[in-house]
Amino acid sequence: LTRLYGPLTALSNVQVDVMTALVSFERVFEVLDLEPMVRDLPGATVLVARQPAPLDSSAPALSIEFDDVSFRYPSPGEVSLASLEAVARPASNGTGEEVLHDVSFRVDPGQMVALVGPSGAGKTTITQLVGRLYDPDRGVVRVGGRDVRQVTLESLHDAVGVVTQDAHMFHDSIRYNLAYARPDASDDELLAAVSAAQIGELIAALPDGLDTVVGDRGYRLSGGEKQRLAIARLLLKAPRVVVLDEATAHLDSESEAAVQRALKTALVGRTSLVIAHRLSTVRDADMILVVVAGRIVERGTHDELLHAGGTYAELYRTQFALQAG
Ligand code: ADP
Ligand code: MG
Repeated sequence: LTRLYGPLTALSNVQVDVMTALVSFERVFEVLDLEPMVRDLPGATVLVARQPAPLDSSAPALSIEFDDVSFRYPSPGEVSLASLEAVARPASNGTGEEVLHDVSFRVDPGQMVALVGPSGAGKTTITQLVGRLYDPDRGVVRVGGRDVRQVTLESLHDAVGVVTQDAHMFHDSIRYNLAYARPDASDDELLAAVSAAQIGELIAALPDGLDTVVGDRGYRLSGGEKQRLAIARLLLKAPRVVVLDEATAHLDSESEAAVQRALKTALVGRTSLVIAHRLSTVRDADMILVVVAGRIVERGTHDELLHAGGTYAELYRTQFALQAG
C-alpha cells in the first residue's frame, strides 16, 4: 500500500512546490511591476525602434486609441500554470465584475488627455491597458495605430513610459535607480536628466552625488524628490508615450512647483494620458475624459465641460475649484 501511495504522495508534493513557485512568481511580478497575464504573441513585431540615445525627444510621438474596450480583472485563482505558459490570457475568462464598459477615445500624437472622475471609476485601469499590463476582454487598445497585442512587450514598454503616484526606488544608489532605465547613459546624460527633472541641485549638494544610496537606510527621499527622480528616469528613457498618475499626496509648494516644471519638460513633444488631480493639468489638457463607473460619461476641454454644467462641472466644484486659490 505504501508503495502504491508513495508516488501519489510524491506527486502531490511536487504540486505543492509548483503552487509555491507560482505564488512567488506572482510576488516577483508584483514587486517588479511586470506582467504575468500577458505574453508576446507568436509573430509579434517591434512597435517602433527604441530611442537610440538617452534623453532623445526628436522621434515622432505616437497616438493612443481605445476602441470599445471592456475589461474585468482576472480573479486571483486565475493565474495558473496555463496562463503563465499561454501566449496571452484568453479573453473573457475573468469572473469579477466588469470594470470598464465600451471605453473609446483617441489621443493624437503629441496631445495630452486628462482622465478625471471619482475614486474607483477605472482611471488607473485604463492607463494600465496602454502598457498592456492586462488584455481587454473586448475591444482593442492601439498605440501608434498598432494593436498592443500584436507588438512585442519589450518594444511596447520602450515606447510607453509610466510614472505612478508612488514611484518605486530600489535601495541602491541614485545612479543605479536612474541607469536601469537606460544602462548606456553617461554621467553627463544622467546629470542632464536630473537637472531637467529639477532635482540636479539637490543631488549635487549630496556628499556622494549620484552615488548616494536612497531608501530607508540611506538618504530618505521626500515624495516630491521621488517623483522628480522618476521623471528623470522617464527623460532618460525618452518614451514616445507617457502615462502619468499625478500625485494626490500633499507636496510642499516648492516641491510641487518643481514637479510641475519637471513634468512640463517631460511631456513636450510626447503623447500623454494623465490621471489629473490638479487644476493646472485639466486646464492644459487638449481633452478631458470624465470617467464614472467604468464609462466615459463626458468629454471635452475644461471650458466646454464647465459650460455644459454636468458631471465635470460638479467635480470641478468639489475637487479642482479649491485649488484656484
Ligand atoms: P480609479 O483609478 O479611477 O480610482 P481603478 O481603475 O483603480 O479606479 O479601479 C476601478 C475598479 O477596478 C474598482 O472597482 C477597483 O476596485 C477595481 N480594481 C482595481 N484594481 C483591481 C485589481 N488588481 N483586481 C481587481 N479589481 C481591481
Ligand atoms: Mg487610480
